[in-house]
Amino acid sequence: MSKKLIYNAHIITMNASLEIIPNGCILIENGKIKNICSGQLKDPDAELIDAQGMFVMPGFINTHTHIPMTMLRGYADDLPLHTWLTEHIFPAEARFVTPENVRIATRLALIEMIKSGTVCFNDMYFFEDVIAEEAKKAGIRGVLGESLIDFPTPSFHTVEEGLALSKALICKWQGDSLIHPSVCAHAPYTCCRKTLQQAKQLADQSNTILQIHIAETRKEVDDITAQTGMPPAEYLHSIGLLDRNVIAAHGVWLNPQETELFASTQTSIAHCPKSNLKLASGIADTYSYLQAGITVSIGTDGTASNNTLDMTEEMRFAALLPKVKHDDPEAVNARTALQMATINGAKALGLEQITGSLEKGKSADLIFIHADSSNMLPVYDEYSAIVYAMNSKNIRSSMVNGEWLMRNRELCHLDKNETLEAIKQLASTIKH
Ligand SMILES: [Zn+2]
Repeated sequence: MSKKLIYNAHIITMNASLEIIPNGCILIENGKIKNICSGQLKDPDAELIDAQGMFVMPGFINTHTHIPMTMLRGYADDLPLHTWLTEHIFPAEARFVTPENVRIATRLALIEMIKSGTVCFNDMYFFEDVIAEEAKKAGIRGVLGESLIDFPTPSFHTVEEGLALSKALICKWQGDSLIHPSVCAHAPYTCCRKTLQQAKQLADQSNTILQIHIAETRKEVDDITAQTGMPPAEYLHSIGLLDRNVIAAHGVWLNPQETELFASTQTSIAHCPKSNLKLASGIADTYSYLQAGITVSIGTDGTASNNTLDMTEEMRFAALLPKVKHDDPEAVNARTALQMATINGAKALGLEQITGSLEKGKSADLIFIHADSSNMLPVYDEYSAIVYAMNSKNIRSSMVNGEWLMRNRELCHLDKNETLEAIKQLASTIKH
């Protein structure tokens, strides 16, 4: 029986009442939080972990990304989405996305994510089984779905083959303690009605979430409206694709009726502020979405359009942008931004019983933040310090299911030097 006892911790629980426990303890047994309280706990069998000077809080949940795209970081920048995707990214993926290269790029992404405090990520890409293997080895939690799309991809040629791959992923990983398989339909502009409905059917039969991109650009809204007579979210609702098991990336261009549809169907949104800014897609009105009762979480998107997987940066953008959009500094405050980056992500992914906050019975998916540092002191308000002042280097250690991913900035399961050499080698073959 493995036990760990964290003591002297300033605990940011992110529970429903946003409780903060100064000078607290967390007892972890078999990967789960057995007790969490102020003061001292004793357990002679537990490994003792002194958290003096540290905030301990739930790790970040990145709810939309394509992690092997690290191989294309900086490959094609400063372009509008349609040109970027069709003239640069899709052709490069057709040439270079192989299981071997996905493995290398995944390792690079995992290093960056762990070093910036992510404990769980939601991925849609190709060769997701390879990504699952690497995530499992690294000890990080992953929700993974093979990206279904109507044209040939690096991992399958027909939608039937793609569905078979999705089923195989589900069969292999369902019930795993770290890997949560899902189904993914890329977008309403790359999947026909039949593909979208087949994907949803598989997700429902398998009791998994469905991931999809929705209303990312104005062009998408115009094109889908021209094709179907309805804007994207309304169209997807009309064919049965919106419900509480669906997580929609972006949602930049939802009209008020569609916002209401998202709220009434409990469809959630993965907000990707930096990617939306970089591709000039727009600024999602997350403040109105939250006001409407939608679960809004935060994703980095892939590193070809961001270009980082750093949730500390993404969260800061998510807190700052609504203030300008609404001309109101109170729109999305620091508390809300941190909820979006933690517990809202868990809710969106159907994992709120497992992760997203530090509470008795949940998995010990947590990070240690060195708050006694020049860029964070003085701390008058913990949420302000974390959202507006912290950077990824303040994150010293992390664990998932009570097992270390990183300890004192040292990665526990990934070979950084080997990975950096491998990605440089790969980039030299991709360079055009
Ligand atoms: Zn995306």
